[in-house]
Amino acid sequence: MPITLTKTSVRSILTRSSGYLKTVCSHSLQPYRGCSFGRSLCGVGCYVRHNPFVTRGAEWGSFLEVRENAAAAYLSLYDRERRWARTSRGRFGVFMSSATDPFVPHERRFRVTRSVLHGMLEKPPDELIIQTHSHLATRYLDIFSELSKYCSLRMHISIESDRDRLPGLPPPASSVARRFEAAACLREAGIHVVITVAPLLPIADPEAFFQRVSDCADAVVIDHFIGGDGTADGTRTLRTPLPEAMSAVDPACLSIAYRDAMVAKALKRMPGRVGVGIDGFAGRLLAGQPSTDGPGPGAAPTG
Ligand code: SF4
Repeated sequence: MPITLTKTSVRSILTRSSGYLKTVCSHSLQPYRGCSFGRSLCGVGCYVRHNPFVTRGAEWGSFLEVRENAAAAYLSLYDRERRWARTSRGRFGVFMSSATDPFVPHERRFRVTRSVLHGMLEKPPDELIIQTHSHLATRYLDIFSELSKYCSLRMHISIESDRDRLPGLPPPASSVARRFEAAACLREAGIHVVITVAPLLPIADPEAFFQRVSDCADAVVIDHFIGGDGTADGTRTLRTPLPEAMSAVDPACLSIAYRDAMVAKALKRMPGRVGVGIDGFAGRLLAGQPSTDGPGPGAAPTG
């Protein structure tokens, strides 16, 4: 199905974080509005699809707005926003991206993310968290390596399960195998890699899955749609076809107890390298024992 492409110039590209994201970083940055992966597996339960400010009434995955001047906007706002962030939040941290994927296939053509990363080489944030569902991130390995000399760089790669398919739902934009390969490649190059299992989907072989995560990442973050989609009980996600497909594979995975069971398994393989919910996204990891305290309601970053 075709995607509607538009190009625009934005006045601001650095959004001061609020709500759940406030504890993760001072700003978010979206090189695009919309996401070309919206019709793939991750798009089904994507939290952004419920955000009318982003969708403006259009079907999720049907549009992509290219923010052509994103790099210029970043550079022009840099001094002011860094000053504000350091004063109000302690450090200037950028989350790219919470409402799109920086490595959508259209990035090959428009190179907006690339231009922003080049802008950051000129004027680096204190911290950069890059969140993606795509193996295409490895294309910019050279820039990441350079950038990590000037700022604290963390690459979050979403791998929600060891399964590529859930019954009745579309395939992922990037297979589990390719995302694991990308994680390994980035880590081998010295980039700090975090696997985000968010939202957690039913895992066929948790022992093998977390071993694989441990082998190619510095840390793992596990988040359930309950408490993770911006509602305390997962109401938003329950309105999508995702829970039914998850339940068809393993009904137990719909409960928060399933998350806690997976956290316990992850901790066995990766003691001290496991985070839960928004705390995990912020880099606050569990000391080594399984947590029974769920994160407060707040949509975890997507992308
Ligand atoms: S989860 Fe991320 S990659 Fe998937 S549709 Fe949403 S924004 Fe795009």
